[in-house]
Amino acid sequence: MGYGLSREQFDRFLDRVKDDYRVFGPAVDADKGAFSDTDRVTYKEVRRFEDLELARKSWFSPKEIIYPVRETLFRFCDGETYVPPLDEKKTAILLRPCDINGIDRLDTIFLENGPFEDFYYKRRRDKVRFFLIECATGFDSCFCVSMNANTTDRWDVAFRFGEEILAEVKSEEFKPYFEGLAQKPFEVQYVSENAKKVRVPEVGEVTPALFQHELWNEYTARCIGCGRCNTSCITCSCFTMQDVGFGAEKKMGERRRCWAGCHIDGFTDMAGGHKFRQSKGERMRFKTMHKINNYYKRFGKHQCVGCGRCEDVCPQYISFARCINTLSDAVREGKCK
Ligand code: SF4
Ligand code: SF4
Repeated sequence: MGYGLSREQFDRFLDRVKDDYRVFGPAVDADKGAFSDTDRVTYKEVRRFEDLELARKSWFSPKEIIYPVRETLFRFCDGETYVPPLDEKKTAILLRPCDINGIDRLDTIFLENGPFEDFYYKRRRDKVRFFLIECATGFDSCFCVSMNANTTDRWDVAFRFGEEILAEVKSEEFKPYFEGLAQKPFEVQYVSENAKKVRVPEVGEVTPALFQHELWNEYTARCIGCGRCNTSCITCSCFTMQDVGFGAEKKMGERRRCWAGCHIDGFTDMAGGHKFRQSKGERMRFKTMHKINNYYKRFGKHQCVGCGRCEDVCPQYISFARCINTLSDAVREGKCK
């Protein structure tokens, strides 16, 4: 069912929805950008249309709404443990098709990659609903079409934001919030071509010889291991654990899990001081193979959804799209036989 809304009607819709859901969307943190006098576009709780930033791509994804940067798994005291409860309210996220596909990749890792579902991820994920932001043109660094992540039908409500706001309501759960609004037909459009195109090697074309290829040396020279590409990525899911004691006797405290990233020093440290993947090139190789080869072999879809954020945030101007294309060229030129 389609509806047409003015911006004032959209604000009233948000007012009604807010009784039952926390609503998040792309929004501006003024003057919080990486450089002086620049803004940061990130995901925040939104209350009205003016809160949304739709003209610029967010540097950070909606990932942390479902999978927090730092999460307490349990607290302990004198041998007793308890798991902190969650906010009872459900969550609605305004997001683009690539990010819905990105959350699908997180779902696969946390809910399907092993014999057990991740309890902490699932209890948040079950409360999440998707409000699609129609994305018919994309941004300069996007390559979602190459990654087959430009379309999705996994949304509850889809919006086209213009002077008039059009809404397509698919989920019964949200139909009551649109009662009384003017009906208007609306069919969601998806981006069909990006300026940036990526050629992903076929899984069978990636040989062990590629792991020794000289192309990875460029990243040893350029990457500084800051991990911004990992933290901005909608599909990076790695974490580490921290046990934090509250008292001198360490009988009280909590266990937390915190995001970790394959580009960052210490990620592969093991007992005895062993480290895998010491050079930055080896880390880039690991990430690339995971995003466009190994994940596909296991789940039949690429982990990278082509959002381009890793490229947007990299202080060394390293392009992941170019990395994939360089790898593809190496495969096709037969340099890795
Ligand atoms: S690897 Fe880069 S382009 Fe791919 S999903 Fe992650 S941030 Fe987006
Ligand atoms: S953002 Fe760039 S410099 Fe930082 S770890 Fe990633 S590739 Fe390296």
